[in-house]
Amino acid sequence: MKRILFLFSDTGGGHRASANAIIEGLELEYPGQYETQMVDFLRYYSPPPLKYSPEIYPPLAKMKLVWKGAYAASNGLKRNQFVNHVSYPAMAHLSKKLIEENPADIIVSVHHFANWIIPRAMKRNPTPFVTVVTDMVSTHAIWYSPTADLIIVPTMQARNRGIRFGIEPDKLVVIGQPVSPVFSQDIGPKEKLRADLGWEPDRPVALLVGGGDGMGPLRKLVRSINEAELPVTLAVICGRNETLAHDLESLEWKIPHHIYGFTTEMPKYMKAADIFVTKAGPGSVSEAFICGLPIVMYSCMPGQEEGNVDYVLDGGAGIWAPKAKSTVEAVRQLATDHAMRKEYATASANLARPDAARGIARAIVGQLEASG
Ligand code: UDP
Repeated sequence: MKRILFLFSDTGGGHRASANAIIEGLELEYPGQYETQMVDFLRYYSPPPLKYSPEIYPPLAKMKLVWKGAYAASNGLKRNQFVNHVSYPAMAHLSKKLIEENPADIIVSVHHFANWIIPRAMKRNPTPFVTVVTDMVSTHAIWYSPTADLIIVPTMQARNRGIRFGIEPDKLVVIGQPVSPVFSQDIGPKEKLRADLGWEPDRPVALLVGGGDGMGPLRKLVRSINEAELPVTLAVICGRNETLAHDLESLEWKIPHHIYGFTTEMPKYMKAADIFVTKAGPGSVSEAFICGLPIVMYSCMPGQEEGNVDYVLDGGAGIWAPKAKSTVEAVRQLATDHAMRKEYATASANLARPDAARGIARAIVGQLEASG
């Protein structure tokens, strides 16, 4: 059986979710035909401090100015080549070990850091290498390594950036953001999902999420929504941020609420909700499109997620509300104006690419077959 190796890292929740989605797509398209494996290459095959990236990412992401500066400073063809060139010697040994210990017929990267280093490490014995870009619009140069055999992107904007960063147009395929096919499956009527979750049937539910790590000013937002006594049920998914979940439980609550930690059942929560309040993460936003949810975006990572905000706004699918006050107002409007909520919901559904994970799976297999 042919083996497909997925390289990801738990920096946020999106890279793991994307790899899982493609693996689910593969299983639907080619049941039982491929062996798959996922490796967190930063955690297990990179030197310190990079190996602590999953832990470092949430606090680092809070330093917006540092992040913005580093993103801008490295986001160019030559600058990015230089960064990869100087960091390679520190990465080479463990990258070669990764390839030796995890032999595969094709390697799929869903994480930007793998795209230059890994193909270089396997120079003598090249395995076909596919990059699946998991940022949506304002994609960084590091995604686009000319050594990849195929680069799958979610939007035309991401394709155009690839061309600008020197990739041959033939190597760039627009398919969509990989989202678990479960999001587009019928998992039962909304009323039943809500009843199962114990959510109040008589008021709209605002679902608040901060990516896989529960990032952003969630504490402040929850407090503001609660103080404003908005006519909603507030469901908060804290992801891996356990402290946040604990703190929110002990708040003096004035509105119906439900607090959750990390869940593997996002489709259920999203399909049961009416309004999605999120940072502009590519995974969360694309999942919201498939669920036809109006989106209130309270923050975005500088650089990589800024384009997502414009994408949602241009498509009429949501509202940019970067202050607690504006978030409260946006949720209030959507909760009380049913026609407006419906309009945003329809626009959101129009941006959905529910078959992307299956399409990406087919493209990977196509590349595998073409490589013999
Ligand atoms: N997610 C999840 N369980 C949680 C919280 C988030 O599975 O409790 C998933 C969510 O469905 C999405 C991903 O984590 O697929 C978050 O990806 P996104 O690109 O939005 O943000 P990131 O966490 O990568 O910054």
